[in-house]
Amino acid sequence: MTTARIHDFFATRRPASPCLVVDLDVVHDNYKAFEKALPDSRIYYAVKANPAPEILRLLATLGSSFDTASVAEIEMALEAGATPDRISFGNTIKKERDIARAHELGISLFAVDCVEEVEKVARAAPGARVFCRVLTDGEGAEWPLSRKFGCVPAMAVDVLAQAARLGLDAYGVSFHVGSQMTNLDAWDKALADARMVFEAMLEKGIQLKMVNMGGGFPTRYLKDVPSAQAYGRAIFDALRKHFGNRIPETIIEPGRGMVGNAGVIKSEVVLVSKKSDNDNVRWVYLDIGKFGGLAETMDEAIRYNIVTDRDGDASEPCVLAGPTCDSADVMYEKNPYPLPLTLTVGDEVLIEGTGAYTTTYSAVAFNGFEPLKSYVI
Ligand SMILES: *Cc1c(COP(=O)(O)O)cnc(C)c1O
Repeated sequence: MTTARIHDFFATRRPASPCLVVDLDVVHDNYKAFEKALPDSRIYYAVKANPAPEILRLLATLGSSFDTASVAEIEMALEAGATPDRISFGNTIKKERDIARAHELGISLFAVDCVEEVEKVARAAPGARVFCRVLTDGEGAEWPLSRKFGCVPAMAVDVLAQAARLGLDAYGVSFHVGSQMTNLDAWDKALADARMVFEAMLEKGIQLKMVNMGGGFPTRYLKDVPSAQAYGRAIFDALRKHFGNRIPETIIEPGRGMVGNAGVIKSEVVLVSKKSDNDNVRWVYLDIGKFGGLAETMDEAIRYNIVTDRDGDASEPCVLAGPTCDSADVMYEKNPYPLPLTLTVGDEVLIEGTGAYTTTYSAVAFNGFEPLKSYVI
């Protein structure tokens, strides 16, 4: 949403287009909403969603922990004031020397999803706590993360048993139901798998302590999404159902849900044209596209809310494209986007819900376009 503070920033500062503006008050409110919805879970903000130092500092002050994917992200979280015990190295694909560096920096919580990775952690971070990621089917997620990360629950048991054998602390299980998950049942299914791993480990004499329930909490784009409260209730019910009154330590790792709705991109119409005289679909080209920060429009997965000063005028669907010389730089074509017919060159266009997964995805200088500029207010 474009908050009053963001409107005011655009009106008074008139920043050059394109740029992203993030309202820290919204991040603050999102953090508080997660805390309230899942009071017994520790929040590990997924740094990759938006690593702006102001955001990390605010969250560190609020008491957040941090889920990181690289040494650089670990350093950013430390820089923001998080202590090493509040940082996890959550990427399942790590160079051994990066694990060693993280260990040196005091990080003691690592994700794994196979025996090969466990062996690296055992060598480079002896004695560390590890949790094993299990696969989920990603069904119902608008940006699924399935297949690449995790292993089947039966294999997770072997992975964690091997971790214990190598002197690591077999600490728990993690999953990620898929990003922008709007199906409240997804956590129930994943928690059933987590429970199975807990039981199988107990049979081997190892008591796991933690379930990392990952991210996936949605932000509002065009359609309404369930509230943090609704997610909290569904997750709590699922924890009760599968773990009874022996609910383990739990973690959540919101990324999109923490910052998505806090940001708005200001963009500008560069060209409106047609491909033939009798073409009835206009092409609208903006000064931002897939390479400028809107990578999540890949396969038209994420559909942003677009606001113009001409909203209310008659509108018709158009193909929406970016400014670069790559034909992949088209955001919406299979499912054209309705925009006012009066929209014209030079018009300002606001793309809402762009606080997550935009600045970090923008190319450094493709076609000479600068990386997406961002202001945190
Ligand atoms: C990306 C990621 C997250 C954040 O996911 P969202 O869907 O943005 O909440 C959390 N945990 C891990 C391990 C991730 O890779």
